[in-house]
Amino acid sequence: MGFVRDKVRPKIKTALPGPNSKKWEAFHLKYTCPATYEQGFIWDRKADAIGPFCTDPDGNIFIDFASHVASSALGYNNPELLDLAKKISRVNPDRYSGVDFISGYGKDPKKLEIPTVSHLHEKIMEITKQFNFKKSFFSNSGTEAVENAIKLAYAKRKNYGYGFCFYGAFHGRTLGSLSLNRSMVQHRMWYPKIPKIMHMNYCSCVGDCGCGWIVKARNGQNVSQIVELIDRDFGIIDPDEVSYVILEPIQGEGGFKVPNRKFMKEIEKVTKQNGIPLIADEIQSGLGRTGKMWAIEHSEIKPDIITASKALNIAATIGKEEFFPKESGRVGGTWAEGNAMATAMGYTVIEVIEKQNLLKNATQKGNYFLKRLKELKEKFSCIIDVRGLGLMDAIELNTKENRDKLKMTVRKKGLLVIGCGYKTLRFLPPLDVRQRELDIALEILEDGLKEIC
Ligand code: PLP
Repeated sequence: MGFVRDKVRPKIKTALPGPNSKKWEAFHLKYTCPATYEQGFIWDRKADAIGPFCTDPDGNIFIDFASHVASSALGYNNPELLDLAKKISRVNPDRYSGVDFISGYGKDPKKLEIPTVSHLHEKIMEITKQFNFKKSFFSNSGTEAVENAIKLAYAKRKNYGYGFCFYGAFHGRTLGSLSLNRSMVQHRMWYPKIPKIMHMNYCSCVGDCGCGWIVKARNGQNVSQIVELIDRDFGIIDPDEVSYVILEPIQGEGGFKVPNRKFMKEIEKVTKQNGIPLIADEIQSGLGRTGKMWAIEHSEIKPDIITASKALNIAATIGKEEFFPKESGRVGGTWAEGNAMATAMGYTVIEVIEKQNLLKNATQKGNYFLKRLKELKEKFSCIIDVRGLGLMDAIELNTKENRDKLKMTVRKKGLLVIGCGYKTLRFLPPLDVRQRELDIALEILEDGLKEIC
């Protein structure tokens, strides 16, 4: 028992799913609603797991480059997180009504034994000081962080105005957030949306823009779509009627699209000029995933509000002081601000990122991984694009069928990856991924490509 991280390798002994996995699958699916379940992989929480390696109920060993869709930033059974869990599990309730009752741990908050919600607030301020952020509010899921962000923006603007989002966006599944989604019909179909949401193209063009973000406006000039919409002379919407612009600093669900720098700068310029709040949704890309604490730092722009979750274990809406209500009762939720274990985990994830210099690791290992993916693109014509930042990387295949086939072919060899966009495969290894682990994944990927390309 007990994997040695530098020795263990993926090993698949059964057809997938194996007989025990099938039992779990049948047991689970009997009463739950079909969601987005991946086939052929069930994680056995009782079995060995370390770093990116984990085991299914049939003893098959996988290397997991999905990391629970970036929510397990430090992989499986990170020793610091396990230690913390042992300490904190002695206290109950673990989840409490944190917006109604503040809870501490011991007599003096300055003597940190176990990080509390209050400590996480302080920590979050440290890692967002470059944006001059002064407040944060914690909730349970990414989508709630987005709901709170747009509420703050609507309340600041007091205009019942327009929300601008982008083609390919994903911001969550509650009614407000899903109104901003532009990635899949299933997310939206038959659900009512909040009104006055418009979308623009998300420009990820390399070099000159050909995606439609630059358009000929009524006055004959080539301008960006946002200018075309809200220019005070030739636009069709008064900028004072816009409540916010929300964007992902690298699109996640929409296909790991890395934005064009000029596009990002233009968004910043136009929103600042017109006093329009800019929200950066960092729920997938934040906390070191791209080699910077926040992916928006790659574009050197400063949003007014950031949403974070996944790697943080809880959700946070973080921003400039003037966005947060002075009166009570404007934001809330029983378990908002009251999730002790998840909060302590989130704090410790940040600490581990800092102590172990994982931003550097994500940059260096990401550069290596992207370079090797580009080499695979040269060898296999079914890869049409390689893109990413740090450890948020992807390959785009020539067809959706090939993407799906490749995903399952490599899964049967022990590499767990998931799709995004229309025909893209995403790679989200743990932030402390090791060279050997990248090489194992690349080896399996190459074997898979040999079979399908
Ligand atoms: N925003 C982005 C960029 C995401 O990637 C996600 C989830 O994948 C969400 C929002 C929604 O987060 P949650 O699923 O925790 O509600």
